[in-house]
Amino acid sequence: MTPASFHNTVLDWYDQHGRKDLPWQQNINPYRVWVSEIMLQQTQVSTVIPYFERFMKRFPTVQKLARAPQDEVLHLWTGLGYYARARNLHRAAQIVVAEHGAVFPADVSALSSLPGIGRSTAGAIASISMDIRAPILDGNVKRVLARFHAIAGWPGEKPVESQLWKIAEKYTPTRRLRDYSQVMMDLGATLCTRSKPRCHECPLAKHCSAFKAGTVSQYPGKKPSKATPVRQTLMLLLENEHGEVLLEQRPPSGLWGGLWCLPEIGDPALLKGALNERGLNGGRIKALPDFRHTFSHFHLDISPLRIKVKPAGKVVRETTRQRWVKHNSPGELGLAAPIKKLLESL
Ligand code: SF4
Repeated sequence: MTPASFHNTVLDWYDQHGRKDLPWQQNINPYRVWVSEIMLQQTQVSTVIPYFERFMKRFPTVQKLARAPQDEVLHLWTGLGYYARARNLHRAAQIVVAEHGAVFPADVSALSSLPGIGRSTAGAIASISMDIRAPILDGNVKRVLARFHAIAGWPGEKPVESQLWKIAEKYTPTRRLRDYSQVMMDLGATLCTRSKPRCHECPLAKHCSAFKAGTVSQYPGKKPSKATPVRQTLMLLLENEHGEVLLEQRPPSGLWGGLWCLPEIGDPALLKGALNERGLNGGRIKALPDFRHTFSHFHLDISPLRIKVKPAGKVVRETTRQRWVKHNSPGELGLAAPIKKLLESL
């Protein structure tokens, strides 16, 4: 689909179906568009409307907002959430008044240097209120374009986002900029919704890659879940001449708190010290197969070492937190799951 046929198609749809009666679409000026755009971030239109109207009644101009005490601004924001938006709005108003003579700069990069204004919000202010050719790429537009072109990957990732910006730029017309920005947001908010998009009513359906392939639900790609961290440990199966294994009780709180575990070291170089500490001399060492134990927030890769030990002195010290147990009958001790598994494998 050529850029011209893309924007003509969506503009035709806008003429017939687009929203034209939202409060910020009346008496359009940069200040009103800016406030509405900030309020609409992460918040639905129906929620924003009464807040916008109250805000405009109290602060009809950027000068009035700049002069207001911050408490009052935050008070009018109460219930909208994400209060950093209100604090940035207030600061940006003061900058517009102090540095730009209360006139919003007619330039996307100057707009985006104001607190809380990103490239897309700057594009919306510039295109909707000043008729400047500037693309927008808010969450709604990202969804439409990612589906239309079947762009894989999470739009929060730089390469995916850059690709979407390029497409947004390509399709932005040179006329009717206000309507174009509005219709792109409308399409995402009303047809190309996150769940249950109404593709059969969509003017772009005929050329939409995801719709044609039946893969709409795959776009945009989801935020990758954070990789679970992996920790490593060496677990020591210290086995005395009676075939007993040394268990030690963990401190009452923390990981495996109060359970009976094997002595652990982080590094093979620490083995000698660990044996000395326990009054033991080490003999034959056998590495058992590694295995992984998964906690809710990390994986623990366990490398067990089976080591024949002898007392270094006459008696082996045994504290209340240490026990020598038969691996096949450790008694009624609370054992951490991987320790139980290891003892059973011996
Ligand atoms: S056809 Fe469906 S998926 Fe494609 S842009 Fe339209 S609503 Fe979105």
